[in-house]
Amino acid sequence: MKKRHIACHDCDLLMLIPPLRHRQEAHCPRCGYVLTRFYQHAQAKLLTSALTAIVFLVYSLKFPFIIFSLHGSEKTLTLLESIQNVENITYLLISALLAFTAFIIPFSFLVSVVYISWSFKTKRLFPFTSAILKLTMLLKPWNMAEIFIISILISFIKVQTMAYIEFGYALAFYLLFIMSLSATFVYFDQYQLWSLYQLKVKHNQGETYANS
Ligand SMILES: [Zn+2]
Repeated sequence: MKKRHIACHDCDLLMLIPPLRHRQEAHCPRCGYVLTRFYQHAQAKLLTSALTAIVFLVYSLKFPFIIFSLHGSEKTLTLLESIQNVENITYLLISALLAFTAFIIPFSFLVSVVYISWSFKTKRLFPFTSAILKLTMLLKPWNMAEIFIISILISFIKVQTMAYIEFGYALAFYLLFIMSLSATFVYFDQYQLWSLYQLKVKHNQGETYANS
C-alpha cells in the first residue's frame, strides 16, 4: 500500500507511514501510540468476523438466557427481558443505556462494517461509503458488550442464593458474539480502511476519466 500522512491520535504529530508487512505495527516516534497494524487479507477477515458476530447476536436474542426456579415456579427470560426493568425512571434509563451499549450500538456498528467491507469488494463503491465509514469510527468506542455480560452475570450470581438459576443457550451465543466482535475490532483499522477508501475513489475516478 502507498505511503500516506497520518496525525497521531494522542500527540497530533504528523508522519508518513511506510508500507507494512503482515502483523507489522507502526508506532508514533514521539509517544509510542500504535498508529496502525497491517494484516494480510484483513478486509475478508473483517467481513467474515462481522457477519459471524451478527449471526451470534441474533441467535443470542432468540434463545432463553436464564431460567429461574423459586418455590416450585419457573420463569424463563431472554437477554432483552433480563435488562427490562421499568419500575422507576432510574432503572428505565439504565435499561435503555444497557440496550444501547450491548445490542443497538454493536449491531449498528457490525452492519456498517459489513456495508463498507462489501462496498470495497465491488468494482464501484456503494453510495454513502465514506459517511458510513465515519459512522463506524464514531460507534466503535461505544461497544460495551463484554461489560454488559460481566455485570449481568455478577448480579445473577448474587441472586443465586435466593433462587435456583440455570443459563440457557443465549449465554453461549452471546459469548461467541463477543469473541467475533473482538475479532472484528482486531481487523478494523482506521488508517488501513481510509487508505483503501482513497485508493478505491482514485481508481473509480481514473475509470470515469478513461471512459469519458
Ligand atoms: Zn504520538
